[in-house]
Amino acid sequence: MDKLIIEVRINEYAPRDTNPQIPFTANELGRDAAAVRDAGAAIVHFHPRQADGSPTHAISDYEAAVAAIRQSSGLLLNPTLGQITASGSAIDRLRPVEALARNPALRPELCGIDPGSTNIDVFDSAARRFRSGDRVYVNSHDTLTQFSSRLRALGIKPALACWSVPFVRTACALIDMGLIDDPPYFFFVCGEGGTLGAHPATPEGLRAFTDHLPRDRKLLWSVGCKGGNLFPLAMAAIAAGGHVAIGIGDYPYPELGAPNNARLVDEVVKLARLIGREVASPEDARHMLGIRKSTPVLC
Ligand code: ZN
Repeated sequence: MDKLIIEVRINEYAPRDTNPQIPFTANELGRDAAAVRDAGAAIVHFHPRQADGSPTHAISDYEAAVAAIRQSSGLLLNPTLGQITASGSAIDRLRPVEALARNPALRPELCGIDPGSTNIDVFDSAARRFRSGDRVYVNSHDTLTQFSSRLRALGIKPALACWSVPFVRTACALIDMGLIDDPPYFFFVCGEGGTLGAHPATPEGLRAFTDHLPRDRKLLWSVGCKGGNLFPLAMAAIAAGGHVAIGIGDYPYPELGAPNNARLVDEVVKLARLIGREVASPEDARHMLGIRKSTPVLC
């Protein structure tokens, strides 16, 4: 079985009230990245944020975050394109990553795109109401073809973040269009704690994703869980040859006393060892994902 790639979803837009260890600033991201790298992570997915935790889509904030993480850790980088921070056009959302790609020292290896649209309001089951009612994460087909073709030209591999089976089908369409280089890297988003716009974090929820993957090509997939504990599914994914994307950005893990990201990686490594699966270094992951070190920017 391939080595296990551990991706850390280091901060998202999570607040510190349930886990005070969420990194916000570039320095904090750099410190946390070094710790998760030492624990066994290969990739870091991050959202640039200001010192008070508010989201930022400024190019300078992306640059500072990438420089800090790269210098401290050598992890493969997977920055956000901005889910709700950049409410403008596809070009607006892509602008910081375009800027990073033009500097070889800062060009990220990966970038998440979500091949579909979904409601991202959270349902409060105790109060029997939605906490908000109008938050829709929109990714039109025009946006997706634009993201895919630009990322390909920039030498950045897309992480195909799929919230449900229709996302997987749309990702396959992008692959068929020749916009995604081999091997495709799928990231299955499960949702708990009222995140209803994604599959439940259950064996059935995971299997629905994997059942709809193309069977005629080599690919990689990982799984994460927004709003809930990933560990039960992480074990299933590790045993099935999948990969794991975990972090306190997705869930504060009160079961572990609001740990830091490195603690979560430690626990995933222990699970892998239990069933004899080796853990991939950043260089292993680069090779497995087919990411060249010095891909030229085409235009
Ligand atoms: Zn994210």
